[in-house]
Amino acid sequence: MQQDCIFCKIIAGEIPGTIVYQDESTVAFQDVHPAAPQHILFVPRKHVASMADITPEDGPLLNGIFQAAKKVAHDLKLEEGYRFVTNVGPRAGQSVLHLHFHLLGGRDLTWPPG
Ligand code: 5GP
Ligand code: ZN
Repeated sequence: MQQDCIFCKIIAGEIPGTIVYQDESTVAFQDVHPAAPQHILFVPRKHVASMADITPEDGPLLNGIFQAAKKVAHDLKLEEGYRFVTNVGPRAGQSVLHLHFHLLGGRDLTWPPG
């Protein structure tokens, strides 16, 4: 756990989060400022700052996140379409330095994103 990391604190239960899924390596919770009717964040329990910091050893961790997202998307009946994205760095708008993937769905999603 990284001190002063808001997502590490949610994972540890130190600050509240609406958790919708968790297993040994992944936690998923509702985004506090939803950008779509369904907006879930998927994070590894391990603190990794961003996609720029993942290593080959993080392969199982990433597979766990994708398997979790697939299951949650199915449970939320999002098969008609959803988006699963990660922002990396300030120009992409990354505001929390703990790797997270946004699952967005429940409305039409335009492409390209802003
Ligand atoms: P980023 O901009 O880094 O890609 O995404 C960070 C996301 O985390 C944003 O969508 C923001 O609304 C969400 N967020 C920031 N702080 C909190 C928090 O304390 N709790 C929850 N559930 N989401 C948060
Ligand atoms: Zn963290």
